[in-house]
Amino acid sequence: MMELSYQSMKVAHQAREADELRTEMRRKSLLILIYHHLLGQGYVSAAVALDQETNGGVRRFEVCDNIDLEMVLMEYESYHYVKFQKYPKLIRRTAEPGENRNARSGSVKRSSCSAAKPLPKINPSQSPKSGNGAKRTTASSHTNENGSALPPELSEFGLNVSSIRNGPAGEAANNRKGQMTDGKVSINDAVKGAGSDSDHMERLLKPLSGFSGMSGEMRELAAIISRDIYLHSPNVRWEDIIGLEDAKRLVKEAVVYPIKYPQLFTGILSPWKGLLLYGPPGTGKTLLAKAVATECKTTFFNISASSIVSKWRGDSEKLVRVLFELARYHAPSTIFLDELESVMSQRGTSMGGEHEGSRRMKTELLVQMDGLAKSEDLVFVLAASNLPWELDHAMLRRLEKRIIVSLPSSPARQAMISHWLPPLSSTGGVELRTELDYETLAKGMEGYSGSDIRLVCKEAAMRPVRKIFDALESHQDGDTDVPAIQLETVTTADFLEVITHTKPSARNLMDKYTAWEREYESV
Ligand code: ADP
Repeated sequence: MMELSYQSMKVAHQAREADELRTEMRRKSLLILIYHHLLGQGYVSAAVALDQETNGGVRRFEVCDNIDLEMVLMEYESYHYVKFQKYPKLIRRTAEPGENRNARSGSVKRSSCSAAKPLPKINPSQSPKSGNGAKRTTASSHTNENGSALPPELSEFGLNVSSIRNGPAGEAANNRKGQMTDGKVSINDAVKGAGSDSDHMERLLKPLSGFSGMSGEMRELAAIISRDIYLHSPNVRWEDIIGLEDAKRLVKEAVVYPIKYPQLFTGILSPWKGLLLYGPPGTGKTLLAKAVATECKTTFFNISASSIVSKWRGDSEKLVRVLFELARYHAPSTIFLDELESVMSQRGTSMGGEHEGSRRMKTELLVQMDGLAKSEDLVFVLAASNLPWELDHAMLRRLEKRIIVSLPSSPARQAMISHWLPPLSSTGGVELRTELDYETLAKGMEGYSGSDIRLVCKEAAMRPVRKIFDALESHQDGDTDVPAIQLETVTTADFLEVITHTKPSARNLMDKYTAWEREYESV
């Protein structure tokens, strides 16, 4: 009896030892896998640091059987899919202090176009109609992933507009995710579902140490440009851009669809390498570029052309070269060159003759654009200009596709005013009511840009708020009870009064844009 229990204790002890050994081996293998993964991805300094921290314990080992971290994760995903019919969510963004996770995850609902998608069968006669010029569908931005209502959303002026905008359209939008087909969730949906949380995750860039053949100076320039790469999604969706239906469609055709459906864009349809958005200031050119960045998870370089010139006059030529090299390194990439006229005005026409450095930089930009046109690199230049007639013709030829972003139409102006000043919203918990004849106001704002209209709406919303400052100030000096605050309703007359004090910024230039459009519009 004694002998038996001694034997079983020994066996149990040996089993425990074997278990501990396996755990230890597993931990060590994990570190070695991480070490090789870091090296493979070019994170050389991180790999060296890991090796040092483990006293050289990882460098001396190789991984057997072609295992690597990615494969381990893939195996886990397949296992999870077989067991639960959906892919696992591997990571999730940590909430930052004071951040509302629900609001974040609900605020982005978009289809990623980073990966080529298989083409579904579509009967051309069934293709969905493009929406009405100025009507916006905002429903998707007010529901979270499970389709439940999000906490009230604040409008751009801090006004709560969610209660007013949630409509039946929202329900339809909610049902899109996790759609069941014959009782099964399609793999595409499962993949989309699993990826949704990482959609607005900070972008992980390849380390610059893998950027070969660079001198110290070039590496420094690369680091400077890397600061202009969007790491966070700018979170502007197509439906956030009011009106501009033609411009949106053309931008999607030129930039988004070639990335989403590359199989369609070959031969004569091979994608454009350069696109110019032009039109009056404040009409949504930057918004369109941000929507591209949000929709396509390409590496997005947001470059303000004027800052290249002013900050890097001497070095700007090198900076341009490194910019394109970096874009190729991080491909697929989109380079957004804002205020293009400030670097690419017609050569030799700038005041006081042309600076030699700036001439060389322009030439470099042209050379790089030519390089792109000839190559298969997935790098695309999106340029914006308020003054297209000032642009160098050689540059224009390279921006093959040109799209006008014009002043908002009357329905678009109406949609903007009702978006920024809905009948009921709240600011800092205080209700703001408006009684506005949107149609009349939109008619009275001909020639105003989107940005002008936003300013007018802000000023109109400010009027009743201004009137309560006295009450608030006197309250702070006295007792602790918060006075009941009632804001006056903003009326059409108030709004018209604001309009008389704010002049449209670009009305007089519109003829010039249309004349330019007639001459230079590509298609
Ligand atoms: P630009 O054409 O000068 O690049 P932006 O895209 O920067 O203009 O627009 C400036 C601001 O004006 C935007 O942040 C937005 O608030 C407002 N705006 C302009 N056009 C629109 C639009 N079509 N839809 C929604 N907001 C707009």
